[in-house]
Parts: sequence; structure tokens; C-alpha cells
Amino acid sequence: MILPGGTVGVLGGGQLGRMMALAARRMGYRIVVLDPSASCPTAQVSDDVVVGALTDVEAAKQLAKKVDVITLDTEHVPADVLDQLEAITPVRPAASVLRTIQDRQTQKQFLDKLGMPQAKWAPCEDVDKALGVVGRPAIVKVRRAGYDGKGQIRIEPGADAKAEFAKLKGEPAVAEALVPFAREISVILARGMRGEIAIYPLAENVHRRHILHTTRAPAPISAQGKKRAEEIGLTVAEALGHVGVIAVEMFELPDGTLLVNEIAPRTHNSGHYTYGACATTQFEQHVRAVCGLPLGDPRALTGAVMVNLIGDLWRDGAPPWRAVLERPEARLHLYGKDAPAPGRKMGHVVLLDDDTDRALATAEQMITALTPP
Ligand code: AMP
Repeated sequence: MILPGGTVGVLGGGQLGRMMALAARRMGYRIVVLDPSASCPTAQVSDDVVVGALTDVEAAKQLAKKVDVITLDTEHVPADVLDQLEAITPVRPAASVLRTIQDRQTQKQFLDKLGMPQAKWAPCEDVDKALGVVGRPAIVKVRRAGYDGKGQIRIEPGADAKAEFAKLKGEPAVAEALVPFAREISVILARGMRGEIAIYPLAENVHRRHILHTTRAPAPISAQGKKRAEEIGLTVAEALGHVGVIAVEMFELPDGTLLVNEIAPRTHNSGHYTYGACATTQFEQHVRAVCGLPLGDPRALTGAVMVNLIGDLWRDGAPPWRAVLERPEARLHLYGKDAPAPGRKMGHVVLLDDDTDRALATAEQMITALTPP
């Protein structure tokens, strides 16, 4: 058990690392982050930063020597780098978890082996052959390092598949059938060092242009649907031997069937609502799990809606924050990013409201008010 006063190392300095660092420091831990930028969102709130790429083994080893445990802000740290760090200090989640998850094809094979339901998929070395298996429309995704729709193409029934596929520039890829989902949900849970589990209220997610737009929690769902979603989350976390917070994103079909879309072995954008809405935030929970502490209470204290603030809102400079700050139920989170590019996640707002339909409507009004004319 690593008690407060100990030092947590974080690989990757984005917003997830930042919010984890804030939670850890509140609890009395020290934080050291590895990131290519000395002024990344996490470094701004950390005790120390090692500047280096996430693929830089020597820099990562330097970090390992300064900390009691290593964890991650992103799943895109090469598992081979993690293998080398495990010889120096505990890495949680382990290199083996990342090795299964970080390649979409390996992840899908793992899910198939577990008997978890997924969209029809196929390896995509030859695009025509892959489309022969999954049909059209299809989505072709790069196996590694894609996120927020980056490294994905959609192939429509009439499209020139080879020309579309060429846009991925020869990156290894998988093809998936396009799922006619009724909605998207995610299960966020934590698994501790002794296999103990804490499950958060289910999240209902809406994406825009492949980027998460809103999360509503708890998601309105039947008792049976909730049970099934939680079972899937639990089965995945246990089979991986995961330690920490994990998110399993799913598609819900019109008949209620759930298909796993993807697994993120870390805190997740659709769990941001827990900061404010739940007794223990996903960030504190992750720190507790990787430090071997007992898990905190995941119970919701209120309903909530989270809405992401994307770089497009900064087109004419800082958005008019009054539209957020004047609402007593709104909590503003900004990540300290200095380059607000279109499509980049810059922050989010959590609206604390038991009436989540009303909160969703408020979120849309707020985004309209923040959007440049
Ligand atoms: P991903 O990066 O795989 O999570 O994809 C981002 C978003 O794209 C998902 O949350 C969905 O909204 C959409 N998407 C991805 N894969 C599919 C699919 N097979 N069918 C329908 N929509 C998808």
C-alpha cells in the first residue's frame, strides 16, 4: 500500500493526468509526470516533470526512479516501455493490460475470446476482403493510436473502398460493421489490488463528429439492461486483471442488445461527471486503486450532465464564461491548454441536476451561448 506522502508517477500529461494529479495532491501524494511538454496540463499541477516522449525508455526510467508507483493518462504508451519500467517500480495497470488493449485487433480478439458481444469485425489488410465479411457501410479504424475519430474512415455502399482505405496511408487497420445503435452508454468502474470492485452509475453518451459531446448520468435504463452492462464491465476488468479505473463503451441497439465498442483502461471522459456528482471522483478512485488503498464510495449524490468544451469555441478568443458561471449548478473545468485547435478538448462543464433532461437542455443552451457567431 502506498500511503499519502508517497509519489505517483503519471505517463502522459493530458487532462486525465491533470485531474488525477489534483485528486492525488489533495490526498497528500506527490506527483511526477512524463510528457514531451514541460507546461502540459498535468505538469502545471505536479511536483515534478520529466520531459520526454512516451516512447523514450530512458526518460521513462528516469521517472520510474523518482516514484513509488506508475500509472497512465493514456493507453498509448508502448507496452514494451512498460515492461522495462515494471523491473524498477510497480506499473498499474500492468503492461499486459495495455498490450491487450492498445491494439484494436488484439482488443477485439480478447473480447471475442471472452464471449463479449461486438459489432461484426475483420482484420483489414485487404479492404475488399474485410468488407466482404463486415458488409457496408463500414468503419475502418487504425489498430493503434487512434482517438476521437482520428484514424477512422467510413466506407459507404457506393464508395471506392480502395481509395478511401488509402487515406489511412497503409497503417494496420481493422474493419467494423456500422452499428445502427439507438444510443451509446459506458460503464466506468474501478478494480482494486485485491480484486474489489466499485461501479459508477451508468453513463449515456452523445458524440458529435466522433468526439464525446454530452454524458448524462445515471443513464435511464431498465434494471436488466443495467445489470447486463455492469456484467460486461466486470467481466472485462477481471479478465484483464486490471487495477485502476476502466471504462467500457457500448452501443445499445433498438432492442436493448449491448455491443462493446471499446475499452479504455484508465479514467474516461464519460466519467468526468463523477467530479461533483459522486461521493468519490473517478480520479481519486484511480489513485486509491493504484496505490492499493481501499476503494471509495462510487455512489451518485445527484444526477448530472457533462458537456465537453471543444477548441472550436475559442475561434474568436476566450468564450464568454459568464454563460457558465452564472448558473449555480454548473462546474467549469478548464485544462490549461494554450493552443485551442478545432476538435481539441479544452475543458468541460458538469451540470449538477437530478432532472437530467433539464440539464441536457441547459447544456445545449450553454454551448449555443459560448459558440462564436
Ligand atoms: P471510437 O473511437 O471507436 O470510440 O469511435 C468514436 C465514435 O464513433 C463512437 O463513439 C461512435 O459514435 C462512432 N462509431 C465508432 N465505431 C462505430 C461503429 N462500428 N458503428 C457506428 N458508430 C461507430
